[in-house]
Amino acid sequence: MNSAVASSREGVANIVRAYWAAAPGNSLRLDSGEKCWAEPHLAVARGDDPYFARFKEMIGPFYWTPEDAFALAFPDDPEPAAALRVISYVLPQTPATRADQRREQTLPAERWARSRDYGEKFNCELRLHLAATLTNAGFPAVAPERLPGFDYRMSEQAGLASNWSERHTAFVAGLGTFGLSDGLITPWGKAVRFGSVVVRMELPVTSRPYGDNHHAWCLWYARGTCGICAQRCPANAISTVAGHNKPVCHSYIREVTAPYSQQSFGTSATPCGLCQVKIPCEAQIPPELVSERSRVSPWKREKQT
Ligand code: SF4
Ligand code: SF4
Repeated sequence: MNSAVASSREGVANIVRAYWAAAPGNSLRLDSGEKCWAEPHLAVARGDDPYFARFKEMIGPFYWTPEDAFALAFPDDPEPAAALRVISYVLPQTPATRADQRREQTLPAERWARSRDYGEKFNCELRLHLAATLTNAGFPAVAPERLPGFDYRMSEQAGLASNWSERHTAFVAGLGTFGLSDGLITPWGKAVRFGSVVVRMELPVTSRPYGDNHHAWCLWYARGTCGICAQRCPANAISTVAGHNKPVCHSYIREVTAPYSQQSFGTSATPCGLCQVKIPCEAQIPPELVSERSRVSPWKREKQT
């Protein structure tokens, strides 16, 4: 791919879409041949968006800003944060996977377990593919989540936390806001996964239709209603009083759903996600919270940088 093509916003989207469409890894490995994910969507944040430094303050000094991640990948050629862009993409679960998962009460559906395992492996490939394609086109790029130092640590303020958060990055890029269960509610719902790449490129940035309101698209925080994700959790790890209890959630996944999925479907990874379906924000922003602006695709919400 030549540099002129890669550097346009549609060029970047086309790299992601083409890989999503053709890569053999985007497969649930079922006889039906169906993909792990529905079509991806992208948005872009500035590398020096103040939110990234704020996350470091909130989570701990081990948390990477885009500048930190870029310097780790290109130690001989670091860039100031203002020269960087962060491409964030969302991979929605397919309608078939969501339908199966909606029928479950305590354990993940087979398609869901497969997407958590094979779909996340594909997501890792996609991160690397996007970074390599941009780098080869003359725009050095890194997928922070794929760096050797990517890790989880105990944060005094945030509990167990990684040094790069795909969900927080997606929030900064304008893809969604946090719900009661900690998941990010996007225009394609909460039954999604994310990936991101930091690149030295002058891509136009997408705006955040929700401004600084990081709970704007959750009915509980916006209206004091709903709370259905809490009722869906079989481990009582979500409450309208305390939000998401990470240790309880992690214990249930490690002790119950992961072993079950391994034994039943032969999948690895750590699936659960019962709180991500059969809820008003499963595959959309709750309709009563949708503004016209929220309906616009992130690529079209371009702002001057
Ligand atoms: S199910 Fe309701 S309370 Fe839970 S995240 Fe979605 S909108 Fe918020
Ligand atoms: S992932 Fe599972 S255990 Fe964790 S909060 Fe959601 S439903 Fe509960």
